[in-house]
Amino acid sequence: MPTIEDVVCPFCGCLCDDIVVRVENGEIREVENACKFGAHRFLTVKKHRIKRPMIREGQEFKEVSYEEAIERAVEILTNAKKPLLYGFSSTSCEVHEVAIELAEVLGAVIDNTASVCHGPSVLAIQEVGYPSVTLGEVKNRADLVVYWACNPIHAHPRHMSRYTLFPRGMWTDKGKLDRFLVVVDVRRTETAEMADLFIKVKPGYDFEVLNALRTILRKGDIPTNEVGGVPKETLKELVERMKNCKFGIIFFGVGLTMSRGKHRNIAEAIKLVRDLNDYTKFSIMAMRGHYNVTGFNEVLTWESGFPFAVDFTRGYPWFNPGETDANSLLQNRDVDAALVIASDPAAHFPRESVRYLAKIPLVVIDPFESLTSKIADVVIPSKVVGIEEEGSAYRMDAVPLRLKKIIEAEGLLSDLEIMERILEGVRRRLSKTREAVAER
Ligand code: SF4
Repeated sequence: MPTIEDVVCPFCGCLCDDIVVRVENGEIREVENACKFGAHRFLTVKKHRIKRPMIREGQEFKEVSYEEAIERAVEILTNAKKPLLYGFSSTSCEVHEVAIELAEVLGAVIDNTASVCHGPSVLAIQEVGYPSVTLGEVKNRADLVVYWACNPIHAHPRHMSRYTLFPRGMWTDKGKLDRFLVVVDVRRTETAEMADLFIKVKPGYDFEVLNALRTILRKGDIPTNEVGGVPKETLKELVERMKNCKFGIIFFGVGLTMSRGKHRNIAEAIKLVRDLNDYTKFSIMAMRGHYNVTGFNEVLTWESGFPFAVDFTRGYPWFNPGETDANSLLQNRDVDAALVIASDPAAHFPRESVRYLAKIPLVVIDPFESLTSKIADVVIPSKVVGIEEEGSAYRMDAVPLRLKKIIEAEGLLSDLEIMERILEGVRRRLSKTREAVAER
């Protein structure tokens, strides 16, 4: 059975690059080293697939050719005054590049799933900077690991075994014995069960706790006996551990970005890390979810100067989350068509946004059936990037990795081919419209 080594797992932001895959008769038969999510992604890649391009006719879908579906998508996008392009977190950077060009040509708004997960982190990073490192440095050096408002055992199952707690690093050669694990959360999670120190915070009080840690660090004390449900002595103990470690890191999750305080929580955590660097080496990193959510923020920033929620309707990039992010646009009924690729907003957005998304002309590009594909007007199936198509993606620490093609997907186009054809069709149609106007 042919064996493919050093495969990158296209599932979560860990982008584990040590996966071994065995293929027989064009099918993936065995997967080694992956967690259950990663193994499931490889072994069930042929299940729940969209088999043919489809166009809605009333309540039913009619199967059509790729050419017809792409032509209909082009028609929808060019007829719209202000289309929204959304998703992108589970596809390659090459697709992001074409999509951003498409948004610019159309005068559309482009946004990714960061706007409903780590968007506040990005805003805080723009405000106060990002003293971060790579996961390789964490593996080799970190002797104090803090997971704040995240549960990697569930969301990033190999994070601790590959990068933080268990691996033997260059200067942490006893693995777990060389490291101290702190978990800060509103409940005792599975990750908290493994902690050397678990700190339970009252829901919505992370900012106050972070601010108290900074105050203790600077002034040695605080005037109250507890903050956010955490006794002063526990906070002082954590500060001492942070000050006296050789290399510390805080990993934070959406429990911090999506609770009261949002980007203020992240800014305060970053400021704490900045303060700690007066005493020791300390760093911070967002636990990014989808495997290439970081990639989209990187590519959009090179191209437009802004990381997500970019509005090109003025002819230049305009960034104002709260106005230009997908949910605000849908809830304010401020877009009149949408293209969703490699994500499922109907499963995750608030009901009001989904209701409006279902009303406007909607194009969905995805390998798999989803709630969003069920409310679409045009559905275009694609290959799975990282299994049936190669491409580039950024790990959560912004290290780019190359995803491999493992098996063929006969009769399907890749996200990149589909987006390139849509871009070409849009350019052709817009130039015809311009010629017709000039002739009048
Ligand atoms: S931790 Fe994430 S990237 Fe690694 S194997 Fe599991 S799902 Fe894949």
